[in-house]
Amino acid sequence: MTAPNATPSSIDLIGNTPLVLLKGPSAAAGCEIWGKCEFANPGASVKDRAALWIVRDAEARGELKPGGTVIEGTAGNTGIGIALVANARGYKSVIVMPDNQSKEKMDTLRALGAELVLVPPTKFADPNHFVHTSRRLAEETEGAVWANQFDNVANRKAHIESTAPEIWEQLGGRIDGFTCAAGTGGTIAGTGLGLKAFDENIVVALTDPYGAALYNYYANGELKAEGSSVAEGIGQGRITANLEGAPIDTQFRMSDEEGLEWVRRLLAEEGLCLGLSSGINVAGAVALGQKLVAEGRKDARVVTILCDTGFRYLSTLYNPEWLETKGLPVFPWLVR
Ligand code: PMP
Repeated sequence: MTAPNATPSSIDLIGNTPLVLLKGPSAAAGCEIWGKCEFANPGASVKDRAALWIVRDAEARGELKPGGTVIEGTAGNTGIGIALVANARGYKSVIVMPDNQSKEKMDTLRALGAELVLVPPTKFADPNHFVHTSRRLAEETEGAVWANQFDNVANRKAHIESTAPEIWEQLGGRIDGFTCAAGTGGTIAGTGLGLKAFDENIVVALTDPYGAALYNYYANGELKAEGSSVAEGIGQGRITANLEGAPIDTQFRMSDEEGLEWVRRLLAEEGLCLGLSSGINVAGAVALGQKLVAEGRKDARVVTILCDTGFRYLSTLYNPEWLETKGLPVFPWLVR
């Protein structure tokens, strides 16, 4: 018997993730809701794709040479992707991260061999913000490149060239809607652009958490945030280069409670252990499915992104004490 998907390079393990029909969300929407299993990437998140495309792009431009260093500011998942890709390609990695992100992400980055630099969580305008700190470090370090995931469009290119064609092929070219939240915006913009290149009628919707400014921007042109969210990796306050020209047809806003309810149900009923951005994405996919059905498209098919694994949030989303301090509901099987 031949082993399936045998590959000569660990880099090839990034992408080509499975697509799974989500039963509860499909029943709630009245149409098919599919989840792209990005937790199946080697670094267990969607950001492995951006990390690989950014590193390849820097190599192609001659900026990254053997023995060089990749430096990035990240909520964690991009750093994990960069650390793995850097190891596989013979580079060092330095990751700058706000110190309010999950302990699992910090421990993981250290375990992978990245140099971890923690900074206080501040507003983007603050010169010590993790993005600016990472840029400065890259400028000061010999042989280093700054990954710059927010404004380096190699990020969204990863989704134009991989995520979108995979989804298109996996569904045999029959898809009606796509939605997800934005951190850098690479996933929504890149997958949206890539899918629309196949079929411009595919409805692309942004699902924004509270505390982000994009819902208002796409609804009425005003970059204005309301409320807050504990979701890691999503929630953008500006139009990054990756978001520029994103083909957003409609937008939803989802609360942490709505997202957590899908995290709970997908785990309890479908055996999928996910992070909160995945739950918020699924809540958005259900809303998009319901909208398409209400518009008469009863056999609609909607795809969203299951961004990362819940194992990364055992100390937060799956920890009753943490949930209680945030005023969020505790999953029934964790109540003591
Ligand atoms: N979910 C999680 C858990 C993430 O880490 C990220 C990346 N910041 C996203 C969603 C959003 O992806 P993107 O940066 O492509 O918008």
